[in-house]
Amino acid sequence: MSFSAAGEILGAAARVRTLTLAHHPELPDGTYAMVETYCTDPGCDCRKTMILVHHDHRHVSTINFGWETPEFYARWYGAPLDARTRAEMQGPSIDLNSPDLVPPGAMLAFFSALLDARYLEHLRSQYTRFRAAVAKPAGA
Ligand SMILES: [Zn+2]
Repeated sequence: MSFSAAGEILGAAARVRTLTLAHHPELPDGTYAMVETYCTDPGCDCRKTMILVHHDHRHVSTINFGWETPEFYARWYGAPLDARTRAEMQGPSIDLNSPDLVPPGAMLAFFSALLDARYLEHLRSQYTRFRAAVAKPAGA
């Protein structure tokens, strides 16, 4: 699967969520930008985001998050999910290729705490807009 930042497809309408941390026990102080990327593969409906977390403009962590059920991803995959694929697809997890410049466990806990109904709805609707935009032929 190939992923692109929401802003590359949707332009300025794809607002990047930023958060400022101070005095967190494990994560460095500063501004964190949660850059959402989504899948650009034609015809794919993987319903997940990969979030590139930037701390003071440096890519420090990559988070996978799929909001659907394990049953959805098993249907998408066409087979029961092995542990690795399930971890990549369903729920929040730190990506295997994450740079891990901040403690991954702390980043995962931080992201999980952010995941309220509003953020979830934002990710789902951003995915829908993104997929609609990539489905259009270029120049249309
Ligand atoms: Zn996909």
